[in-house]
Amino acid sequence: MIVLKKSSECLDLVVLKKSKGSIVGLVPTMGALHAGHLSLIKASKQENDFTVCSIFVNPTQFNEIEDFIQYPKPTENDIGLLEQAECDLLFLPNENEIYDKGINELDTYHLGYLEHYLEGASRPGHFKGVANVVDRFLKIIKPDHLYLGQKDYQQVKVLQALLLQKKFATKIVMCPIVRESNGLAMSSRNERLTEQQRKNAGGIAETLFFIRDNYRNYGLPELQKKSIARINSIPEAKLDYLEFCDADAFTTVSDWNSAKHIVVVTAVKIAAVRLLDNILLH
Ligand code: AMP
Repeated sequence: MIVLKKSSECLDLVVLKKSKGSIVGLVPTMGALHAGHLSLIKASKQENDFTVCSIFVNPTQFNEIEDFIQYPKPTENDIGLLEQAECDLLFLPNENEIYDKGINELDTYHLGYLEHYLEGASRPGHFKGVANVVDRFLKIIKPDHLYLGQKDYQQVKVLQALLLQKKFATKIVMCPIVRESNGLAMSSRNERLTEQQRKNAGGIAETLFFIRDNYRNYGLPELQKKSIARINSIPEAKLDYLEFCDADAFTTVSDWNSAKHIVVVTAVKIAAVRLLDNILLH
């Protein structure tokens, strides 16, 4: 695997690969790689000739400086995992490489209500930071395919809006959520949970599976109430939201027939760790 830190070198190599007819896949990450990230690499390897992974802990998408500082950076281990996965190129830029004018000089995008809804409401400015970093990566790598996890469902919606607005030819490929044995969605932040908290956090996925298995038996408001009660019964859990949304438009739905596809999205804090999960119903 080639490791490059400079955008210009990365751009030159990808241009060369493309000139020889290679189809390019990009997997953007913040590192501390786990099986969820590696599933994206695997998908990209299957569908492209050249797979690029980026590792960059993006300062502009964090709301709390403490969360940014504490974000794990096991770079050597990540490189080993990417080599095993036979990733072709790791782009490992530093902050100046991506934000040459500094992190306060951000571009503004018209992401609409998505920017201020659910995750956007709880994390002001988060999606502006995500859009800024992904826009910059897309300009450097110009991938044919961009691999994103369903785990961050609203992020996928935001990036779909960005691609449309900026007229990028890149296609988004959304990959399924990889889970731990108790159902907990894999996340680099799970490392910050104690063993007991991690066990308890399995209750979030159990609630989503309960919804998936029962939604035809209840009205939506009733099932939402029951599900919220389940989450609230998890020790140390503080529910931020559990919302039923149109999976395409990503707007709230209040009955089963008001959308062709429904996704249930939730954000729950267990002690100080904020966890996201979701499930597609139909
Ligand atoms: P992150 O490093 O957390 O920014 O995540 C990088 C990419 O990996 C994003 O597209 C995430 O949605 C995806 N991802 C994170 N966790 C998982 C998971 N458990 N299963 C599948 N994809 C994931």
